[in-house]
Amino acid sequence: MTTSTNATIAERKAKQAARSKAHHERNKDNPEYRAKRAAAAKAHHEANRDNPEYRAKRRHREKARQSTPEHKAKRAELAEATGVRREARVAVRLAEAARLTETGLKRCTKCGETKPLDLFSKNRSMRDGVQLHCKECKHDRKRQYRAEHPEKRLAEERRRRIADPVTYMLSSAKQRAKQQGIPCTVSKDAIGSVPDICPALRVPLVLGVGLPSPLSASLDRRVPALGYVSGNVAVISQRANSLKGAWTAPELYALADKSGDAVTAVELRAVAKWLEEQS
Ligand SMILES: [Zn+2]
Repeated sequence: MTTSTNATIAERKAKQAARSKAHHERNKDNPEYRAKRAAAAKAHHEANRDNPEYRAKRRHREKARQSTPEHKAKRAELAEATGVRREARVAVRLAEAARLTETGLKRCTKCGETKPLDLFSKNRSMRDGVQLHCKECKHDRKRQYRAEHPEKRLAEERRRRIADPVTYMLSSAKQRAKQQGIPCTVSKDAIGSVPDICPALRVPLVLGVGLPSPLSASLDRRVPALGYVSGNVAVISQRANSLKGAWTAPELYALADKSGDAVTAVELRAVAKWLEEQS
């Protein structure tokens, strides 16, 4: 049943195609018919010229057309006859681009949209001083790359942690401060360097080994609500930082007394003692 229906549809389509082809053949030399066709094609192009899908389709069709042997032979013949070679066609394209540049515009070669020049990143080696692809396309590509290569980001983070731990801590502190709405004005110099030993727990700090660990260096805010400001920050171990939380020294002593775990109690007291020495 389906087969016969499909066959009928295909037959009908073929018949219609044949009819319209015959119509075209009969009229192709009729100027009126030609003008009408040209106007319709032009209107369709104008309506769709900024549509990326339409542009991609056109590019694809044009590429296919240009790659046929007939077309190549014709082009060679034309170039021979008129002396117009590829360079000349490129010159026309460049002139068109230059005309756009003068009006402060550029067509992105990725999405095909014509946009103001300031929506393109700068590139001094380019004739018009900006890159081929618009910022949006560039960001799309970056986002896609990052999503496809999560391991690169982790490796890069690790590299930054080892190369310059203070800068790394400061930039993550800035992010946290922004999220929590607290100030972050402390300078890199005010933080100083990362000590070999956690001043609160007296354990060696370890830098950039795999993922952050309890022995990683972390930036502590003595009074959390004050934020990352000079005089309120210290580099201590991640473990000491998480034990400390937002507690005060007397509260930490009280927690240690209540703690069922002997090791944790010792740690809590050490952090409390350090906190007292700080003030
Ligand atoms: Zn673009």
